[in-house]
Amino acid sequence: MRIIWHGHSAFELQDSLTTLIDPFILGNVMCDVELDDLKPDVIAVTHGHSDHLGDTITLAQQTGCKVVAVNEIAKYLQSKGVDALGANIGGSIEIGNVRYTLVPATHSNGIDEAGFGWDAGSPAGWVISDTVVAYHAGDTGLFSDMALVHEMYKPKAVMLPIGGRFTMDINQALIAVKMLKPQLVLPMHYNTFDVIKADVGKFQRMVEEQTDAEVVIMQPGDFIDI
Ligand code: ZN
Repeated sequence: MRIIWHGHSAFELQDSLTTLIDPFILGNVMCDVELDDLKPDVIAVTHGHSDHLGDTITLAQQTGCKVVAVNEIAKYLQSKGVDALGANIGGSIEIGNVRYTLVPATHSNGIDEAGFGWDAGSPAGWVISDTVVAYHAGDTGLFSDMALVHEMYKPKAVMLPIGGRFTMDINQALIAVKMLKPQLVLPMHYNTFDVIKADVGKFQRMVEEQTDAEVVIMQPGDFIDI
């Protein structure tokens, strides 16, 4: 699996399928790509906030890709003509040989672009089981059931928010790593805006001193193969 970071919480997993997670592209000052550069098979959305749902509708309309999301967001996307598949926390959607499983996230939810006029259901994280298992935590505070994500899915790579204010900060994300026990940690959701500045180097040092995990600090456009 190749994991590419496009800034903020947007990742592209290139494996048996190309999965794009939370494609916040046009409004994202940290993003390295244009919409036309992206050719996902599947877009996985964690929740309806504009920095996560992002450019999902435009991309799905341009490419005809499938979108997976919690049921309420899937219904909103279907109303826009998108080929969206809904599920709910604990459930999975299988596309090709890839399994997309919705897991909890402690956050709020709402569809910004719809003026919060649609119920966006529960916010979520995604466990994506392709040839490698990867976990994208979405926007979340720390919660102890991350230990269950390890017990049930054993993700090798985890994408964790560290920016604080709206999500975990670096100290909370360190505890998350101890529960998730991954091989690889990719920090996200930091430094995009002033209010989510984080000392990613300190996070890397703490994690690598206290756990067996490796933290890879990426720049937008960087990738890692796992
Ligand atoms: Zn959010």
